[in-house]
Amino acid sequence: MSDVDAVVIGSGAGGGPVALWLADAGYRVVVLEKGPPLTESEFKKDEIGEVRRARYWPREHEEPRVVEMSDGRGGYPAVTSSEAGITTWNGCAVGGATNFMSGFFLRLKPDDFRLRSTYGPAPGADVVDWPIGYDELESWYDLVEREVGVSGRVVEHPRMEWRSSPDFPMPPTAEHALAKRVDEVGRARGLHPIPLPRAVLSRPRAGREKCDYTGFCGSYGCTTGAKGSSRAALLGRAVATGRCEIRTGRMARSFETDASGRVVAVLHHGSDGVVERLEAKVFVLAAQAIESSRLLLLSTGPRHPKGIGNANDLVGRHLLSSPAGVGWGFFPYAKWEKTLGDVMRDRGAFVNRTFQDWLDYADPATGRKRKGGSVDFLLLHSNAIQTAMIQASTAGQGTKRPIFGRELQGHVRRWFSDGKALKFETFSDWMPTADGRVTLDPKVRDRFGLPVARVRWADHPWNHETTEFLAARGGELLRAMGAEDVVVAAEAGPSTNLVAGGARFGRDPKTSVLDVDCRVHDAENLFVTDGSFMPTGGSVPYTFTIYANAFRVAGRIAAQLGGTKK
Ligand SMILES: Cc1cc2nc3c(=O)[nH]c(=O)nc-3n(C[C@H](O)[C@H](O)[C@H](O)COP(=O)(O)OP(=O)(O)OC[C@H]3O[C@@H](n4cnc5c(N)ncnc54)[C@H](O)[C@@H]3O)c2cc1C
Ligand code: SF4
Repeated sequence: MSDVDAVVIGSGAGGGPVALWLADAGYRVVVLEKGPPLTESEFKKDEIGEVRRARYWPREHEEPRVVEMSDGRGGYPAVTSSEAGITTWNGCAVGGATNFMSGFFLRLKPDDFRLRSTYGPAPGADVVDWPIGYDELESWYDLVEREVGVSGRVVEHPRMEWRSSPDFPMPPTAEHALAKRVDEVGRARGLHPIPLPRAVLSRPRAGREKCDYTGFCGSYGCTTGAKGSSRAALLGRAVATGRCEIRTGRMARSFETDASGRVVAVLHHGSDGVVERLEAKVFVLAAQAIESSRLLLLSTGPRHPKGIGNANDLVGRHLLSSPAGVGWGFFPYAKWEKTLGDVMRDRGAFVNRTFQDWLDYADPATGRKRKGGSVDFLLLHSNAIQTAMIQASTAGQGTKRPIFGRELQGHVRRWFSDGKALKFETFSDWMPTADGRVTLDPKVRDRFGLPVARVRWADHPWNHETTEFLAARGGELLRAMGAEDVVVAAEAGPSTNLVAGGARFGRDPKTSVLDVDCRVHDAENLFVTDGSFMPTGGSVPYTFTIYANAFRVAGRIAAQLGGTKK
């Protein structure tokens, strides 16, 4: 008989809600987290550490991934992340990547749960409806707004989803003067600028401080506890029950199953590298989509010769991201202080605007209604290294020649000191395909001797068409606002901050890995609660939805364990 009721693997968006719910319900929970237990005082607003060093994730030469990106001609050349010098991890520490998110928190739309029924099939893609609808997730979104702390203001607009509470639990975060400019120009064009809700406390709440408007939010750990990370908002409370223990520096490597197919233990490396074994009644996998697929594939046993959940060769398939479209433009203080005032110089307040006017657009070939996406506006990051890198790669675009030396210094100085740069990001559905998947690399191994994840980001023409359409709208808005030096880039590659899919949930075990409660079809005591469950991703970042679903599933797990004990 095991001492532990539940083991949760990974402490980010998928793990935190389950740990809190089960501990609150009276169950003994152990969270195995690969990363360290960082606290507010250990996060640094250090530009070199953030941009040039892998401070919060594994070193790629010790734990690489093999990445296959489209060459645009049907080929997928493979590169090992360590050789290519790219980062593929998103944050390994207590709280996972939620420590480093910007906290843009938008709900999926009702149509996002029935993409196939609403928009029809996408040739070459495998688009399906979700087995649940918005109505089933709404109360969980509402719960997240209160439990995690979301600041915002509800405004009516044509694409507004219904909500059970009239407004957000906290007023919006402080707004930068350029938000007014976005509103004026958007409204003048008949559009609907929407205040973007943030998982950032605009007021002190539940023992956490309010936002200090540090100007270094996304990509940086929060030094006040205002950001609604799983660590700051959920895990501290789980531990405070006395029933949740977080074991850090623990890398899960596989599940052990018995002859009936039940998971009996998780094997994991301790900080000294030695393999340990932990038994429990239920297991919850929340190691982020790529690692969760890898773990399921590594877990072979008598009833799971191809890996847990993989009887139909579905684990790892239908990987999702958001096709990246970005653009930015410059607003010199000399010009804009006259109309917007010296608050133009504010480095900390947020612009926080999104447009959902293009959730539908016309298929360029047939004119049929196709799913579009959203366009968010924010200040370009204050990080000077990023500013320099952007200038180096784009400032010479007009003249079609590279710039360097004093000319580059001049551009960097101007962008850093003489004005504010406004940026937009587009979010749209990544077309899920069976070919876009995580597998185990046959050759490359990590420092634990395990096959690393091989990740194919399968291309689809609609990723490009939708991103180009949305980025063009963002660029038009920037120019209409009076921005200078506008740059628009619609590469439509994956936004690797946002990863989901790989273990779809559904009603039919032949076409899905998880059941409606996110329980693996062929392992009744194993649940997956990170973004892996999502069949489609919607046109907004995923974390709000991962949190909401993880709370929903936590209730099901508690029921399976016997209901609330306290
Ligand atoms: C810079 C940045 C900005 C972002 N901005 C936003 C935003 O504005 N809005 C939004 O919605 N989302 C945003 N995101 C995305 C958001 O962080 C993720 O969607 C979310 O954290 C995913 O949750 P998860 O549970 O899947 O994974 P994570 O939160 O990454 O948690 C996974 C955890 O599992 C641990 N782990 C992995 N493998 C193992 C193993 N084998 N054993 C034990 N532990 C393991 C990891 O260390 C990690 O702590 C952003 C992300 C980044 C990096
Ligand atoms: S204090 Fe505010 S701006 Fe700074 S990281 Fe925290 S939430 Fe973001």
